[in-house]
This record gives sequence, C-alpha cells and structure tokens, in this order.
Amino acid sequence: MNKPTKIGVLTSGGDSPGMNAAIRAVVRTGLHYGLEVFGIHRGYAGMVEDDIEPMNSRSVANIIQRGGTILKTARCKEFMTPEGRKIAYDNLRKHGIDGLVIIGGDGSFRGAQIFSNEYDIPCIGIPGTIDKDMAGTDFTIGFDTAVNTAVRAIDKIRDTADAHDRLFIVEVMGRDAGYIALHSGIATGAEHILIPETKTNVEEIIAGLTEKEKRRKLVNLIVVAEGDDTGGGDEVGKMVKERLPNADVRVCILGHIQRGGSPTCLDRLIASRMGYHAVECLMEGKHNVMVGIVNNRMHYLPLDNAVKAKERFNKEWLRIVKILAS
Ligand code: ADP
Repeated sequence: MNKPTKIGVLTSGGDSPGMNAAIRAVVRTGLHYGLEVFGIHRGYAGMVEDDIEPMNSRSVANIIQRGGTILKTARCKEFMTPEGRKIAYDNLRKHGIDGLVIIGGDGSFRGAQIFSNEYDIPCIGIPGTIDKDMAGTDFTIGFDTAVNTAVRAIDKIRDTADAHDRLFIVEVMGRDAGYIALHSGIATGAEHILIPETKTNVEEIIAGLTEKEKRRKLVNLIVVAEGDDTGGGDEVGKMVKERLPNADVRVCILGHIQRGGSPTCLDRLIASRMGYHAVECLMEGKHNVMVGIVNNRMHYLPLDNAVKAKERFNKEWLRIVKILAS
C-alpha cells in the first residue's frame, strides 16, 4: 500500500472544543514526516468548492488553546450525492491530495467511508463531538470541556437557587446521549438526573420533591439531557409547576455555551494524541479507521463500525445518583 505524500485535514459536522488542537497535531506530525498538508475549509463543502489551502507549522501556531475550529465546519448536502463526491475527488486530485484526516462525528465518518470506497483515498477519522456517544473510544474531543462548562454553570445556578430557595431545572446538551447530563449532574450534586438512556419516572420525581418539601429542603436541582424522553427542560418545568404549584420553579437551558471556550487539558491531550496517531496510520498504510483511545491505549476501529454507541449505563452510576442525592 502506497504511503500518501500530500494529505488534507478537515473538521466536519458539529464543532467541539479541542478540534484546533487536533488540526495542529495533524499538521505538525504530517510536516515531521515530510508530507505536504492542506487545510480543507468548512468540512466536505470545502472539498466540493475547492476551498483548500496549504498549511505550514505557523498556520497552526497559537491555536491549541482556542475553541471552535480555524478550518471552520459545516454540513454539506452535495457530498451526500455521487455527483458532489466526484467534484470533491477532482478537487483533491488537482492538489495531489492522496490521504485525508477527518475530525468529526459518525455522520462525517459515514461520508468518508462512502467516499473512500468510491475513490480509494485512505481516510482516517478522529472523533470530535461533545456528546461522547461514539463506539470504539473512551474519549471524544470536546466532551470534557463541555461537561466542565456545564459544571461551572450549574454551580452558579445552585448559588442563586440557594439564595431564593428555588427548584432549578437545568437542561444540558448531548443530543440523544445522556453523558453530559450524567457526569455534570453527579459532579454538581443534582437531586435528579434525567437521561435518554433510561425511562424517566415523573411520578417518582414528584414524590421525591414532595417529600423534600415536607422536610423543608427547598433547594433542588434537576439536570435534564436535551434528548430525554420527557422532552427536555421546558417540559419538565411545566410538569413540575403543574404538580407542585407552591414550588418556586425556574428552568435554565444552558445551550451553546457548552460548545465553546478554551479546551481543557484532557481535550488538548487526547486531540494531540489522536492527531499524531491519525498521521501515523496514514504512514503505515492504514485505510479507513477511526483513531480512538480505550483504556489509555490507541485503538483503531474500522470507519464502518465508527457509529453512535448507545451506552448501557452501568447501573451503579444511577445508584450513586440516588444514594448521594438523598
Ligand atoms: P457529524 O459528523 O457531527 O455526525 P453530520 O451527521 O451532519 O455530522 O455529518 C456531517 C457531514 O458528513 C454531512 O453534512 C455530509 O456532508 C457528510 N455525510 C454524512 N452522512 C453521509 C452519507 N451517508 N453520505 C455522504 N456524506 C455524508
């Protein structure tokens, strides 16, 4: 298998803090091996529209600490069609690009797999998503930053909840996964954590709150994942207000602050490791794998299998929530 000589790097799909650190690692490792490295802007849209430029060591200076992505990210409908992918391939050929590193989520990897089957360009995936719901890796770039942002915000909400004896319902991100809710909820001492992976028992929550009201425990915190089966923070707020008309209930949707900000040390570290190993994969002639980390070792998963993973949450986690919040 031929080693590539010119590689392209892109960020695709949802953004996540730490993507810049991964870009930096790919560019500098590529240059270390004497490769030419190209930055492809706005994900697959940049491939289709030939928005591609050479990168050097200085292009990635001073970005390891920055959130967002200097290459920008986008969703690209044209790349979903064979005609769009043909245009993308012709543009890569024009620059002589013969290897790709894609930093993104499962959708971006699906696109890469299809593209690579059609045009025989090795594609290496790096998992970048705040939702953490990817098979074949213990970490995804951005989760640690997002969950720490949520923790800091919830701590602040608890202060004001305490001052007014309020019940706060805080909705956090994660799409259809509950990792951000579970981790941030445990770390902030939430009384209830509602996640899509388990069926929410509203009656149990109301009974718990009523019992706490009797004990004059007036400060309560409920953390809800945006994808929870209740429908999210606003819905839970409505239900609680209806059932407990005397409670002072407020809803806070944390929203996009969870996507931004300077990446944590952990996110910078895994992004650097994954970026380095993605280029190593290309140098070893690997085709179509996602670079993951499992038990602190690099783990290579065929892109075909790099799908969203529904976690079978360890029951112990949920038990911890119950016992510690009582
Ligand atoms: P994420 O990578 O965060 O899961 P998306 O699911 O939106 O984000 O995918 C990002 C991009 O990947 C899409 O806009 C599209 O260009 C490409 N993509 C996703 N699925 C496919 C597919 N089945 N075929 C071709 N391209 C795809």
